[in-house]
Amino acid sequence: MVSEESFDEWYNEIVEKAGLCDKRYPIKGMNVWLPYGWNLMQNIDAIIREEMNKTGHDEVCFPLLIPESFFKREEEHIKGFSQEVFWVTHAGKNELEEKMLLRPTSETAMYPMFSLWIRSHADLPLKIFQIVNTFRYETKMTKAFIRVREIHFFEAHTAHESYEDAEKQVREDIEIAKRFFKKLALPVIFSRRPDWDKFAGAEYSIGIDVLMPSLRSLQVGSVHQYRQNFSKAFDIKYEGLDGKHYYCHQTTYGMSERVLGAIIGIHGDEKGVVIPSSIAPIKVVIIPIIFKGHEEEVMQECKKVEKELNAMGINSMVDERDKTPGNKFYDWELKGIPLRIEIGPRDIQKNVVIMVARDGVRKEIEREELKKIEEELKEFDARLYKKAEEFLMKNMHRTEKLERKEGVIELPWCGKEECGNEMEERLDMKSLGIPLEKEEVNATCPICGSKAITWLRLAKSY
Ligand code: ZN
Repeated sequence: MVSEESFDEWYNEIVEKAGLCDKRYPIKGMNVWLPYGWNLMQNIDAIIREEMNKTGHDEVCFPLLIPESFFKREEEHIKGFSQEVFWVTHAGKNELEEKMLLRPTSETAMYPMFSLWIRSHADLPLKIFQIVNTFRYETKMTKAFIRVREIHFFEAHTAHESYEDAEKQVREDIEIAKRFFKKLALPVIFSRRPDWDKFAGAEYSIGIDVLMPSLRSLQVGSVHQYRQNFSKAFDIKYEGLDGKHYYCHQTTYGMSERVLGAIIGIHGDEKGVVIPSSIAPIKVVIIPIIFKGHEEEVMQECKKVEKELNAMGINSMVDERDKTPGNKFYDWELKGIPLRIEIGPRDIQKNVVIMVARDGVRKEIEREELKKIEEELKEFDARLYKKAEEFLMKNMHRTEKLERKEGVIELPWCGKEECGNEMEERLDMKSLGIPLEKEEVNATCPICGSKAITWLRLAKSY
């Protein structure tokens, strides 16, 4: 892991050096996805698509533009986003009769359609998702994959008969998120956001955060319970079994390329990025160790190993470039390929290959037991997770005193907004919210001294 002090500088450099994005595009906060970065993002999307399919969500694709009248229907929502919206006002030289906006998120595009689609209880639950670009005019300093103005966005939207059904959906989303982030070797923290920081229009929001090596938290996902706030604004009603009409209960679940930002930040080291095998486009790179007189033999063996690994479903590639092995190691370490295999004349004679994982674990593997590589990849991902989890645990502090610590701190809290705000101010940290699981707290609020009802998590955040 990269050290706290050098992290931000390292991060800003590595995203370009490793071929993930090009920041020279002349619009701030809008970078060009390079092939490697885009490939990784597509593989992350593939995991979320698989999860969505498993849980009965259908993929849709809504228009990018939203008419102003749609956007204005939910008051809290407009307040929350009004400063960040990009407007389209002209078509050629002509001013549009009605202004349109680039979606900052898609509630106000989707829900007028929901009101047409949903007629009876038989249409429920409605569970859809899309992976599209959204646009938000960020005023803070932009950062590749972390704070951008054109966002690669995943959003799931659901509608249900009852509040309890919507609550079940929230619980399902949390389970999806747990599986998803585990696959990416990212330990995450779920917190119910305080009311003053919930999503615009939500009844409550659950934030999913990671802790970056800079000891600042990064929100990588969120789940929102809307209750009937949007269905009332957009007239989304269904006919119940009793023939009466009811407003739907709704939820959403959102994530973005920040997930990739978290992978780069948390797993990376001084040599470059480190990619879990679950999303690595190339899982194994094979490096021929050429000695004079053995060129043909070594190259043939490398090709054979490549073919066998690919046949096992392990994407592999021989690096045939005219460079020294050392230079090749450097390049692939920079890109974070999980495993490399080295094959030289002596290995062929011994009937082995040398495997070196990106985290330094080195093993000799019998040639006949090449299928062990599959297990090695899993172990590699497990080691990444464990290391990241240890880092998170080490930097989460439960304390009763109001004192600043690096990382995430949990303080006893009475639940009053003014006390929460004062903690934020005095610690110069932002509250992430409270743990999802209820627990007894035998401590007092450090601000007002009354009995605490929960723990409030605070951190410096991106
Ligand atoms: Zn208090």
